Amino acid sequence: MGLFGRRKTVFVDSDILVIGGGMAGCGATYESRYWGRDLKIVCVEKANIERSGAVAQGLYAINCYMGMQWNENQPEDHVRYARNDLMGLVREDLGYDIARHVDSTVHKFEEWGLPIMRDPKTGRYQREGKWQIMIHGESYKPIVAEAARKAASEVYNRIMVTHLLMDKAKPNRVAGAVGFNVRTGDFYVFRGKAVIVAAGGASHIFKPRSVGEGMGRTWYAPWSSASAYALPILVGAKMTQMENRIVLTRFKDGYGPVGAYFLHLKTYTQNAYGEEYESKWYNDTKELVGDYIDRHPVPTCLRNHAILREVAAGRGPIRMVTMEAFQDPHKETVGWENFLGMTVGQAVVWASQNIDPKHINPELTTSEPYVMGSHATCSGAWASGPEDYAPSEYQWGYNRMMTVDGLFGAGDTIGGTAHKFSSGSFTEGRIAGKAAVKYVKDMGKDQPRVSETEYEDLKKSVYKPLENYKVGRNEIVAGTVSPSYLLPIHGLQRLEKIMDEYVGGITPNYMTNDVLLNRGLELLGMLKEDIAYLGAEDLHQLQRAWELQHRVLASEAVTQHTLFREETRWPGYYYRGDHMKLDDDNWHCFTLSRYDRDSGMWEMEKAPVYHIID
Ligand SMILES: Cc1cc2nc3c(=O)[nH]c(=O)nc-3n(C[C@H](O)[C@H](O)[C@H](O)COP(=O)(O)OP(=O)(O)OC[C@H]3O[C@@H](n4cnc5c(N)ncnc54)[C@H](O)[C@@H]3O)c2cc1C
Repeated sequence: MGLFGRRKTVFVDSDILVIGGGMAGCGATYESRYWGRDLKIVCVEKANIERSGAVAQGLYAINCYMGMQWNENQPEDHVRYARNDLMGLVREDLGYDIARHVDSTVHKFEEWGLPIMRDPKTGRYQREGKWQIMIHGESYKPIVAEAARKAASEVYNRIMVTHLLMDKAKPNRVAGAVGFNVRTGDFYVFRGKAVIVAAGGASHIFKPRSVGEGMGRTWYAPWSSASAYALPILVGAKMTQMENRIVLTRFKDGYGPVGAYFLHLKTYTQNAYGEEYESKWYNDTKELVGDYIDRHPVPTCLRNHAILREVAAGRGPIRMVTMEAFQDPHKETVGWENFLGMTVGQAVVWASQNIDPKHINPELTTSEPYVMGSHATCSGAWASGPEDYAPSEYQWGYNRMMTVDGLFGAGDTIGGTAHKFSSGSFTEGRIAGKAAVKYVKDMGKDQPRVSETEYEDLKKSVYKPLENYKVGRNEIVAGTVSPSYLLPIHGLQRLEKIMDEYVGGITPNYMTNDVLLNRGLELLGMLKEDIAYLGAEDLHQLQRAWELQHRVLASEAVTQHTLFREETRWPGYYYRGDHMKLDDDNWHCFTLSRYDRDSGMWEMEKAPVYHIID
């Protein structure tokens, strides 16, 4: 037994175990209670569900609302929109399923106290754009969390889940999860008949633009550490579209959002010389992607592409023209409030850099890539679709169940369904919760059992970084450098550098090719060997160590998928220099991967894209 083997183990039994109490996790917890009145529903969160997840500091808009009560949009319209933005490739069954239920979710939010702005003339929700409605979002997460708290049998805050547990009798059935309390250090064994993973997306896998004094400032939440992908990958769940990372055009240095500026304030962009530039790149883009450039609205990646080309041609920076809109005092207030409600840091950056958008048009830039399944991109787990709508090839039993029995997902976790955002993630959580209850009820007495050997072995490996540190710290050769261990920050910086330089980050202007990707995989392999020797000086660093482990595995998936897809489907997000064009003949398909944890090998395959909506 190692130095830390004597830590207390706490056992928790549940019918439904929800991992992650963000938007999707709160939705899953809430809905599981609705359908499973007598079930034990447990929600586990590494932070505190009151303020956790990507919406933590509040949002200014709910980005997915159909408005069916006023005949504003229908679910079919949303599927067409997402398909268009993702250059043809979305799981239309999953997207439709969310779109048809999302309005009811938003109505619940309002009933629970969320202030949604209304158009004084029509009395309808105030639209920011075709899909977005405006909210006073500072209290968004506490309101949603309250519903989950009241629905859950128990909520465990401050527990970082590190691994899923499998049934000892049935190899492809989930049985629970393990993790540790980041404050007390206790080890937790959660036994669950069904498990719903809702652990958010992945930032900090590519080197961010904000380094040095700005480190930690990223667009996607810095605490989104890829657990949503690593947990299912490790137990052999199939993943899809992991190459579909997203790059955002945002205000420079603060990653401040541009949506309200474009949609509500009607601002627009121009190059350094005050010229419109997008139309200049029309022919160039058409060469790469064909008719996709003629779609409306123009897919987000292609708008990035025009920015990247214009800057490479020497006419950067690209600026947002705010000086006109900000002359109107109402718009000026909205512009500032937009940041104060959700990205305070951008207002601080502008103040500190003498940027008053009334007098200066602020710079925009493209971010480092992120991986997620709920925003305008669709990486994540391959999930079974709704019984009444999914083609048979997309259905193996229960809605939102992954390819592992009893393992469900929602929000950033689930792949193929972009543009669900906060409301759609909560809705997908509800869908997964309902299906998980059905799964548990159908299961009857045939319940999973965890293996003591499995969780005891995991306990040893979970605390290994503390032991590595304690043993190796006396060998420090300079500052924090030890021959016996690697600190989580060092491992993270190495990961970010590999992903940046080899897998299409900001340094090579999002460019990669097969040679770079293969070398990237070799380097990731070496990093994986080394992170067996992570050293953690305290529980906080232990959490960082496990977040890094999750990020590395997700990064490997991104690299494998990027290598497999031999085309450039989303110019502006990344480029395969050896296959610069979109290739619908060979790649109008989903990419799927499956990781074998015993051999460390990845199996790749294609899956068909079914267009269900005309
Ligand atoms: C900057 C930004 C702006 C956005 N703007 C908008 C907007 O204007 N409108 C809109 O509708 N949507 C917006 N979104 C999108 C929205 O926030 C996400 O779509 C939504 O939060 C995804 O829900 P989720 O539950 O999958 O992930 P999250 O809400 O991020 O929740 C994941 C949860 O899992 C927890 N967790 C992670 N790992 C573990 C682990 N190992 N163990 C235990 N717990 C874990 C996290 O702490 C977190 O609470 C924005 C997102 C960002 C980052």
